[in-house]
Amino acid sequence: MCFEWKNRFACGHVGFKQVERCAALGSGCFGPDGTERFVEVEGPCYDCKARLLEVLDPMSVTAGGREKGDSGGKRGGIGGGGGFGGRR
Ligand SMILES: [Zn+2]
Ligand SMILES: [Zn+2]
Repeated sequence: MCFEWKNRFACGHVGFKQVERCAALGSGCFGPDGTERFVEVEGPCYDCKARLLEVLDPMSVTAGGREKGDSGGKRGGIGGGGGFGGRR
C-alpha cells in the first residue's frame, strides 16, 4: 500500500514530506490510507528554526527565508501524475 513520508524533527514536530506510491495504485489501492513512515531529521523544523532566528535576529526573517532548504519535496509528490486519488 501507499504511505506517507513524514519528517520528524529534533524539536519534536512532524512535517509532511511526500507520498510514496505503490505498484497497486489504481488497481486495488486507493492511495495512502494514513500509514506514516518517519524520517529522522537532525535540527529543528522550519517554524522552530524561524522562531529561533527571530529571537536572535528579527531583521533576517522578514525576507522570507523559509523557502530555502526544502529540497526534493516535489519529487513524486501529489502534483506528479495526478494519480493521488484524494478527491472524489
Ligand atoms: Zn498503494
Ligand atoms: Zn519545531
